[in-house]
Amino acid sequence: MVQPLGVVNPIPPTNGLIQIFTGDGKGKTTAALGEAVRAVGAGKRVAIVYFDKGGSHYSERKTLKECFSGSIDFVATGRDRIDPHTGRFDFSLTQEDQDEAKKGLEQTQSFLHDGLHDLVILDEINSTAHLGMISIEDVCALLDHKPEHIEIILTGRHAPEAFLDRAHLITDVRMVKHYFYAGINAREGLDW
Ligand code: ATP
Ligand code: MG
Repeated sequence: MVQPLGVVNPIPPTNGLIQIFTGDGKGKTTAALGEAVRAVGAGKRVAIVYFDKGGSHYSERKTLKECFSGSIDFVATGRDRIDPHTGRFDFSLTQEDQDEAKKGLEQTQSFLHDGLHDLVILDEINSTAHLGMISIEDVCALLDHKPEHIEIILTGRHAPEAFLDRAHLITDVRMVKHYFYAGINAREGLDW
């Protein structure tokens, strides 16, 4: 869905817009993190809710704790899907996934309404909703009732149409080539 430049959803009265980074290429989560770092430089406070991303992988969380404490707050929800012995990714969907995703939504609500944050990043919420761990309607309700001044970024593949309809910016990250398909597994500090 390509819109001509300059045509966006009606601009709300303040600057809290909805951005979506979706698509099958690499760069969605890291783009959101980049925007978080930029926001902090402008004196803004950021919250990140990670959906479906439990576990102690993800090197950026160490950076956030060590370098951005007090300016970027984050909460991780979801199971650890990486088997510690085989390194295999568990694609199954369980009740725990739904419970964890619900916790993520509750945490999002409190970040949106605590009066502290200017930018709220919902990492992997697109895929989490697409896979049915949370309802698309619940996320839409949250978007429709967010405080006007808060900017929201939603990341993840397969952004549901209802999210795209509400967005003021959609970036579709396309895979042209990825080393994964040449047999190179995800690398610490670069992919996680
Ligand atoms: P990143 O976190 O590096 O910005 P991303 O958020 O765009 O990546 P996800 O779909 O969340 O990508 O997947 C995260 C992991 O999967 C990263 O390790 C990334 O390198 C890898 N990845 C991203 N796109 C692909 C792809 N098309 N094929 C295989 N692996 C991919
Ligand atoms: Mg990602």
